[in-house]
Formats: sequence, C-alpha cells, structure tokens
Amino acid sequence: MMRQVDLVERVTGYDPSADEGALNRAYVYAMKMHGSQTRASGDPYFSHPIEVAGILTELKLDHSSIITALLHDLVEDTDASLGDIESMFGRDIARLVDGVTKLTRLELQSEQTQHAENFRKLLLAMSEDIRVLLVKLADRVHNMRTLKFIKSADKRRRIARETMDIYAPLAERIGMQRFKDELLDLSFTELNPDARGSILTRLEFLQSQGEDLPNLIIDHLKRTLAKDGVEAWISGRRKTPYSIWNKMQHKNIAFEQLSDIMAFRVVVGSIEKCYHALGALHAQYPVVPGRFKDYISTPKPNGYRSLHTGLIGPERHRIEVQIRTRDMHDVAELGVAAHWKYKQSEIKVDGRQYRWLRELLDILDHASNPEEFIEHTKLEMFQDQVFCFTPKGDLIALPRGATPVDFAYAVHSEVGDTCVGAKVNGRILPLRAELGNGDQVEILTSRTQTPSPDWEKFVVSGKAKARIRRFVHMKEREQYSDLGRQILQKSFREEGYELSDKALGGVLKKFKADAPDDLFAAVGKGNMTAREVLVAVYPGVRDAAKRRNLWPFRGRTHANKAKSTALPIKGLIPGMAVHYARCCHPLPGERIVGIVTTGKGVTVHTIDCETLASFQDTPERWIDLAWDVIDTEETHTGRLHVMVANEPGSLGDLSTIIGKSQGNISNLKITSRSIDFFEMLVDVEVQDAKHLNDIVAALRAAPVVVSVEKARR
Ligand code: MN
Repeated sequence: MMRQVDLVERVTGYDPSADEGALNRAYVYAMKMHGSQTRASGDPYFSHPIEVAGILTELKLDHSSIITALLHDLVEDTDASLGDIESMFGRDIARLVDGVTKLTRLELQSEQTQHAENFRKLLLAMSEDIRVLLVKLADRVHNMRTLKFIKSADKRRRIARETMDIYAPLAERIGMQRFKDELLDLSFTELNPDARGSILTRLEFLQSQGEDLPNLIIDHLKRTLAKDGVEAWISGRRKTPYSIWNKMQHKNIAFEQLSDIMAFRVVVGSIEKCYHALGALHAQYPVVPGRFKDYISTPKPNGYRSLHTGLIGPERHRIEVQIRTRDMHDVAELGVAAHWKYKQSEIKVDGRQYRWLRELLDILDHASNPEEFIEHTKLEMFQDQVFCFTPKGDLIALPRGATPVDFAYAVHSEVGDTCVGAKVNGRILPLRAELGNGDQVEILTSRTQTPSPDWEKFVVSGKAKARIRRFVHMKEREQYSDLGRQILQKSFREEGYELSDKALGGVLKKFKADAPDDLFAAVGKGNMTAREVLVAVYPGVRDAAKRRNLWPFRGRTHANKAKSTALPIKGLIPGMAVHYARCCHPLPGERIVGIVTTGKGVTVHTIDCETLASFQDTPERWIDLAWDVIDTEETHTGRLHVMVANEPGSLGDLSTIIGKSQGNISNLKITSRSIDFFEMLVDVEVQDAKHLNDIVAALRAAPVVVSVEKARR
C-alpha cells in the first residue's frame, strides 16, 4: 500500500500546483472513515481507495481526480455523507464523488438484462465529467487485480463478464489501451483460465526453444533505421494472452512464432521522422500488401494516431510495425488521460474532441433495443474445454476428457480414421490417454488403419463418436448383409432355385427395400425370414413350406406377419421390425417417433412419452415417423388412466359410455381402490387419437368419473 507521503509526492511531482493539504486530508479521512473494515483479501479496506489513487497517479491525473479516488467508496460504504465531503473538500470534489457513487450503485443492481441500460447510464454520467469514468475504471482495475480473493465463483464470473462486456470496451473507446488490455486479460483469466493457460504454455514452449526472435528483430530494425539517419526507440511488446486468443478465434489462424505475438513499436522525434522511418523500412523489407494505414493524417475517433505497416522483416518473419511520436505514444497508451499531461489547467473535457461520445449517447437514446448495442462487444466463451496445439501451432478446442483420437478427428476425419498413435509433447502416449491444456499433439497415422469399435468407449467429442459409430455400423451392416445372403442362398437352394440380384429385383418394392443388400441385412439381423423372401419371389413354394421347417427363426415380430409391409407408418427403415411402445400406446393422429434398438427393430412412441427421456443422449437412435393416412380398418389400443367414484354402477357407467362411443374395452386393470375411489388402467380399442379423445371427453362429462387421461407410461 502506498504511504501518504509517497502518494502526495507523486502528484506534486507531475503537478506542482496540486493542493497538497487537500490530498493529505483526503488520505487521512478515508483511512479514518473506513476504519477497521476489511477486503475479501483480508487487507484493511482503506488500502483499496489508496491503490486506486495510485493507479491514477500513473496516468498523471489532476489532484481532484486523486482526491476523488481516495474518497470514492465513502458514501456507499461508510457513515460519511456527500454533505460531509462537500464541506471538507468543496463542491467540485463532492460532485465527482457523487458521480462515482452513482456508477457504483448502477453496478450493484446490475444483472444480465440490466447491462445495456446501465451502460447507457454509465455513459451519461461519464459525459458530465470524464474524470468520473477514469476513477471508476481505476476502481475496476484494482477490483479485478484482487478478484481472486472473492470466494463466490458466481460473483467472480459476474464481475469478470461485466468487465469484459462493459468496462473494457469503455476503456478502449476513450483510448486507454493499457486499462483495456489489463481489464480484458484479468477477465479472461477468470472466465477462461484453460484457454489462457494453454496460450501461456505455448509461449513458454516457444521461449524454451531458444527463440530470442523479438530482440533479434528489434536490433535489425534499429540498424536499418540508423543507416538512414533515423534515431528511434523500438520496443517489442508481447501481446496479452487474451489478445492472442482473440486473434486466433476471430481470424482463425495459428501462432507459429513469437513475431506473430509481438507488436513492434518505433517511436521517433517528430511527425516528419515517422514518414522518414516508414520510407527506410519499406526500402529495406518487402511490404505486406494491404497492411499500411496512416492514422496520422486520419486519426481514429478515439484520438489514436500512428503509422501502421506490415513487413516481411528480418529472417523473413512477417511482422507488424507501428510508427509514432512520443506524444502519440502517450495518447495511444493513456488515451484521454494523456491530455492532462499537456493541459493540466484544463479540467473540462474538450467537447469537440469527444464528439463521438455525444453521438454515441444520441444513438443510445434513440436505439429501440439497447441490448443490441452491446451485443457485438460480447465474446463467446468456451467452458468445459481443453485446448491443445497441433505441431504447427493451431489451437484445437476439445471437450474436457478428450483423447488423441478426439484430437485426430478434430483435425480431419481422415486423420481420425487412420490414426495409430500419438506423440504428446514429444512422448508417445496411448490413444486413450486424456489430453491436458496446452498439450502439443502429433498424430501418427497409417493407411491401413480403420476406426476401431473400442475407440467409441473412450472418445468424448461428438464428431469422433459419430464417425466411429458410422464406420462400425457400416461394418456391422456388411456382416449382417453377408450373413443374410448366405441364409437366403441356402433356402433358395433347398427349394431348387438360385439366388440372384435379378430374382430379388422384382420384390424389392414389396419389402420397401432399395437394393438387395437391404434385404440381406434385414434377413441377417433376423428382422425378416428367408422364407418370406422366398415365397415373395416364388409364390409356388408356399404350400411346400408348410410341410417343412426351413430357417428356424424364432421370436416373430410384427414384421413377420403378412400385414407388416402395410404398416400405416411413414419413415420406417425397410425390413426393420416395428413395435408399438407399451408405455404410451401411440395412436394414429398423434405425433410419433421411432427408437431403434439393434437386433430388435423400431419401437414407436408418442412424442410426449416420458420413456423418451432415457434416449436423449443417443439421438442417432431416433427416427422421424408419421402416420400414413391410408389405414382406416385397423384398430389400435389406447390406454387410459381413469379414476371413478367407488359407488354401485360406476364401472357399468364407464363401459356404457365407452361402448356408446364405438370404443371396445380390451383390458381393464384396477391399480388402487380406496373407500371413495377406484383408480384403473383401461385399454380401449379405437381408430385413432381423435377417437380416443372423444371417449375421454365423454367420460369427463360423466358424474361418476373423477378424472381421466391418456396413460403416458
Ligand atoms: Mn471501489
């Protein structure tokens, strides 16, 4: 924590006219009023306003801003009133403290939906005096630096998200690169520690490779400029993990070398020297087309000025260079705060320079949906993921628990299908090994490899699962198909016929099959008997069959019955057995869905059947079905859950009502009986869902019926 004397000395160091007495009084007053309050870190509370004031001295702000920083939490968190502050420090300071307090209150009540609205209020408050915002941003910077001490993970995430959505963009809008970078990186640390960790791991890895590229490039640039008589101060600042990640996300690129993650800055003595330096660099290195930008002749709306260019630099590394004067550099780093350095007497912000702010407020005032306004500043964050690198430096995001096989499929389906091993950080690891954040993964492949059903047991990514399953299904189908063909060949031969695709061609349609292979697979799976196929092709063998038992397939299903091919359902897989689910008794007219069980066929459920919940994780087993309208003869069984009064004649009434409605009770089971009520399940044969609904309506109208509904399981 900064001592009183150090703080005051810092301010008077850059602003000799600062009010030392007021600074001292503010320091002591804040300390006294916050008293024994403590922060989540365990530090005394007053360390916080002092740190915030310290951050603002780095921006060389006027003494009023520093005093405001010292007093900024008093009204909200202590017994001190705005009146007390006004009488001690004057109206100006009181107004600034009030502005910060208002922002703090906005923040306290802010929840997701309030963000945009708060943002607007925040800007409104800011427009009164930019120093209110500067104190608030410094307050946020210190709170973010100490965020890790807050125990509640929810609260930490909320604060980090708010910082990323609102405060960091604000810092950028007023040109404060330094605040913006720090706020974003601190938020990133909280919101996506894994991605950040991976990038840091990668940076360390590159550094461990002995690449001192940045210094090499700086030396080279310096020599080039010196040859042309330009004296320059050059820095190579490493981009923050967040900005690297952001760039990789948005431009979908990899970082291969440190040159990709450095911004090189050339600071020279004057504007003429900027263009001189640019000329010298362009003469020496090939220029990357389309990268040159002259923000000196046309500054950015937030006041930023520099020349930007892209070069194929030393050792043919592609680099980005920004050329500027010292003044421009200060503005770039400190934004609006830099102006105090030059115009310390000026307290009000120059209205014209910050016209964008007014324009922004106008837009907000007239925007129908403020949410839209901040939408584009929000970032899609990835959770529950692990981030790994290809040998080239591409970042691959995978679900937590991912293995080299997941990684291989994420790189390319071909790579996944043919992977035989993996080198993780240079060491061979088994394919089922779990990958960690920042791992560099090299996949070893072999042309002769194919996906193994075993992989399905340990992969976690959807893409890998789907590919492996598809392959396994294809293999399975091949096997079923082979088996089916053999079975058919045998049955045909026993009757003296030869099995041929041509012979089958005429009956494909009858079985709703597209190709002979579909028939083979259905027979192989046992969904259809060889006999059925044989009889279809050669109807004459029917009689002979009665005398002999050909292929002894047991467990006859719906599909085996003669009627099976005329099922009133659309969307079925040719040759697959069909069952109506006993849980929900689907009826024509109801929305239905099929669930596939290997070797068993399709079970038809109503779309609202509770049993379906247990198939949620296996969407590949679901098939879309619909009732076909042609069927009117067939009846279906609907099941009702009925409660009737326990009195003489109530069951009689029940059956009379159902009978009158053309329904037929096929089964009735009393599930509970009390002094007052019977509860029962009643199976009714009906035409369709509408028919059953009519019966339900008729039952509901009967005095003896307490309740009636369709049984769902
Ligand atoms: Mn504070």
